[in-house]
Amino acid sequence: MSSLVDAVMFETEPAALLALVIAFISAISGLAWMCLAYPLTIYTVASKRFAAGNLFLFFAILVTLFRAPEDGTMIWLLADVLLVLGVFLYKKGIYRLFRLPNHAVFDQVVLFTVLAAVILAATTLINYRTTAVTITSVSSAVLAMTVYAKYHALLKDIPRYGAVLMVTPVFVLTCVLLVKALSGLFFPALADALFLKARIDSIPILWIYLGAIIFINVAAIGAALMRVIAKIRNLADHDQLTGLLNRHAIGREISRAEKAYDRDKIPYSALLIDVDFFKSINDQHGHDAGDKAIRHVAAIMSAELRETDRLARYGGEEFLAVLFNCTETHASKVAEKLRLSIADHPFVWNNHNIALTVSIGVSSITQVNSTKALLSQADKALYAAKSAGRNRTLLASG
Ligand code: GH3
Ligand code: MG
Ligand code: MG
Repeated sequence: MSSLVDAVMFETEPAALLALVIAFISAISGLAWMCLAYPLTIYTVASKRFAAGNLFLFFAILVTLFRAPEDGTMIWLLADVLLVLGVFLYKKGIYRLFRLPNHAVFDQVVLFTVLAAVILAATTLINYRTTAVTITSVSSAVLAMTVYAKYHALLKDIPRYGAVLMVTPVFVLTCVLLVKALSGLFFPALADALFLKARIDSIPILWIYLGAIIFINVAAIGAALMRVIAKIRNLADHDQLTGLLNRHAIGREISRAEKAYDRDKIPYSALLIDVDFFKSINDQHGHDAGDKAIRHVAAIMSAELRETDRLARYGGEEFLAVLFNCTETHASKVAEKLRLSIADHPFVWNNHNIALTVSIGVSSITQVNSTKALLSQADKALYAAKSAGRNRTLLASG
């Protein structure tokens, strides 16, 4: 390998400086991913893979810059191998981040092909160019696979144009590596001019590399943060035991219904549902049985309600259903359906059937003039249902 002094002299070429900038950006991106992986513990496994991928790229660029014509084939191949490993780790990071099913066979073929190419080159059975073309083709195939998988994963969360924008840099890099492999195979002189060493002819390619590496890292960090934010939002809006909306989130749904009523007079109703004698389940069977009973009731009601209705865990064993576009007559029918369904599906604990019933207070916005009054009327109706003997629904008197 050429001496550091020679290399630095050599790197005074603009293309070499640009390559150093790319190496620097890869190293910084690697460190940023390490921060995500460790102090922040955000998608630790995926972040570690992205960090390692960037560091492999960093070393690949350094080796490309510092290798000299007199260095052996293996040194020349090292850069290609580091690049393919970096690309491979990037793919593994994307698959982990989006929780995509593993492509074990594809991954094994990739690693086996690279290993075989290196061994064949080491034993001089194939020459440097053929090995480099093989390894570069593998890098391009790995990236193509990543583009495909990432695009389809993104489509689940964002519109098509956003997904296209997010995968474009990886797609460009895929094409550049494909051109590199094909030109190496069919037009070696062109490949040498464009890719072989940091030289003035390669500046356009280096700019593409630079843009792609910055954009790919920014897009991947953006995707990781987007997923974390979505997770936090989900946690903030949902009850951990049942997965239903929580009290805070149902408040937002009621405001939405209130607006539709003020604007278009679309009525809405509230059902306040409380499990009867729930304390005795805890007392007789333990707190775990109580928790499971709450989940059981929640699951039955979720299955019975329409997709447009909203159900929340409002308190310990108390639930609130908000029914959109629904008058008091229909709301009472829905409440009865819920009550009967719960009574018909006993809760099973340790092979014992435990009968559960609920009492429900029903109120509709058509009977009152504010959401506050609606909830207070539903609460009164629930209290009356309890006093009247439980296991019944009562419509607020208005
Ligand atoms: P009623 O028919 O009058 O509603 O009687 P109840 O026993 O259902 O009502 P009460 O308000 O006396 O008791 C509710 C019990 O629910 C008390 C509380 O310990 C229990 N509880 C509240 N939240 C949870 C929970 O998340 N898990 C479990 N296991 N129990 C809970
Ligand atoms: Mg109760
Ligand atoms: Mg209660």
